[in-house]
Amino acid sequence: MIKITVNGAVQEVEPGITAGAALNDKKALAAMVNGRLVDLSFPIKEDAVVLPVYFDSKEGREIFWHSASHLMAQAVKQLYPEAKVTIGPAVPEGFYYDFDVPKPFNEDDLPRIEERMRELARQQIPIVHKFLPKEEAIELFRQRGETYKLEIIAEIPDEEISVYEQGDFVDLCRGPHLPDTGKIKAIKLLSVAGAYWRGDEKNRMLSRIYGVAFPDESLLKEWLERIEEAKRRDHRKLGPALDLFSFHEEAGAGLVFWHPKGATVRRIIQDYWEKEHLANGYQLVVTPHIARAQLWRQSGHFDYYRENMYVLPVEKEEYVLKPMNCPGHILIYRTKVHSYRDLPLRLAEWGTVYRYERSGVLHGTMRVRGFTQDDAHIFCTQEQVGEEIYGVISLSLKMLRQFGFEKFSVALSVRDPKHPENYLGTDEQWSVAENALVNTLKQLGLDFSRAEGEAVFYGPKIDIHLADSLGREFQCATCQFDFNLAQKFNVYYMNNNGEHLPTYLVHRTVLGSIERFVGILIEHYGGAFPTWLAPVQACVLTVTDKEADYAREIVAMLKKENVRVEIDLNNDKISYKIGEAERQKIPFMLVVGAKEKATNTVSLRRRGKGNLGSMPLERVLEQIKEETSGRATGKD
Ligand SMILES: [Zn+2]
Ligand SMILES: [Zn+2]
Repeated sequence: MIKITVNGAVQEVEPGITAGAALNDKKALAAMVNGRLVDLSFPIKEDAVVLPVYFDSKEGREIFWHSASHLMAQAVKQLYPEAKVTIGPAVPEGFYYDFDVPKPFNEDDLPRIEERMRELARQQIPIVHKFLPKEEAIELFRQRGETYKLEIIAEIPDEEISVYEQGDFVDLCRGPHLPDTGKIKAIKLLSVAGAYWRGDEKNRMLSRIYGVAFPDESLLKEWLERIEEAKRRDHRKLGPALDLFSFHEEAGAGLVFWHPKGATVRRIIQDYWEKEHLANGYQLVVTPHIARAQLWRQSGHFDYYRENMYVLPVEKEEYVLKPMNCPGHILIYRTKVHSYRDLPLRLAEWGTVYRYERSGVLHGTMRVRGFTQDDAHIFCTQEQVGEEIYGVISLSLKMLRQFGFEKFSVALSVRDPKHPENYLGTDEQWSVAENALVNTLKQLGLDFSRAEGEAVFYGPKIDIHLADSLGREFQCATCQFDFNLAQKFNVYYMNNNGEHLPTYLVHRTVLGSIERFVGILIEHYGGAFPTWLAPVQACVLTVTDKEADYAREIVAMLKKENVRVEIDLNNDKISYKIGEAERQKIPFMLVVGAKEKATNTVSLRRRGKGNLGSMPLERVLEQIKEETSGRATGKD
């Protein structure tokens, strides 16, 4: 007998019991046995902790969508027997499969494939895992003419090849998978695309189909609504529509031009950021955008980051457009011999950097070639590391919450304990750094995932991902130790005995980059910025020409109070003007007609809330001021 623990309860069972039988849970899609993801048919042969994997987990969705990709391949093979299958993984928002077909698929082919998938799902075909001897696997895929699978098998060193079979379809695959096709209740094929085999343009172009699937119809409906909402909020559409920024073919891809309104949003964020940072003991610096290649050779970037750097010839020498701000801050640090009394030193900069990104990965303002990081580097002693990390993470959370983000997920990346030789820095440095990171997360009560071997070679780090109003995750804040640059530039300080000790160096950002962060904010708020962030806080709208002078007086009064205000004196109907102000997502609309002029009032409309009636201007001003100074994060 073996002991298995299911949902905390221990039972004695015969060895060989399947994970599915052990769980006896209809909603389970797969199982986690001693920390390993397996099929429900997996036989448990030793003492084990068994956990169910549901659709609402990341692992669950991945398995579900991977199985849906197999289902799609099965449908495609039945409908287009000449198609050759290649690979079909789950992706964060569904799945795809790449097929080699004589004629690429187009969107019109999708309903038919979708329908066949539904039929196959209704048949509840068991999905069976098998291990075949390599020779047998090769023969199987050779008979089926699946040349791409043969190519993959040739690269697998194992003697036993893992395959999954469902009815007439078989795929080379490690799994795990759903127990049968019947779990897939709702299917939507989304789009087609061309993709090169193995992503290499020298190879054959394949036809890719993207899709998504769910265990019930209501989840699909919710998902489709969320996609529609995401489209409405897309910053690439809203940014230009709200006159915030533009891109220009003449200037080059991935370079953002900020219009007055977009620049205003940036400035408000930067003012807030600077205020918080100065209050938290940071000092602002400014460093040049280019520097001699020699500096980047010393930092090591020229060796391992070269392909992302822009290099310029200057007087027979090479200069580099800075991809990072760190070496600049280190040069400032090194202009003095620092004693322990000078530390911690926190140098912050709105550091504009340039990185070469391939045009295929550029995405609105979120992924660009020139951007401004809210960068800072902390230089401190070993004793100060704990407090500094606590300061960084709590400041990050405070600031991100100010923008209305409430949900965070935190990833701690540490070195692979089995291979300390792959990392720079001493064991002591790594453990001081890791302890500081972990203690901070515990003190702040933050859940986090710990990934061994995920740290880069020069130091452990924390990344904070925030969830926007649609639940999508974005990485912004990061806090990273660097034992490499500290060593390369010989960054040290003197202790009270006059000894030189290595200074701990921490890179950190809160927002990531201002370009990306504004993009996230546009989508998070759907363009309707809260009053404190809105580029135009109020708009005065006249009903007829007769109120023009009165309206100008109001604007002048509001401007004196530092309200960001516009005026609409056009001859259009007031309903049209209101519609326009709503489209521009201006939080306060002040309508003035004959009655308001006569009574020295304004008629207030709030964005998304409609008409709130007539009132003296002072009342409106009070509300604007309250929402600006209190920095209400509220969404409409
Ligand atoms: Zn597979
Ligand atoms: Zn840095």
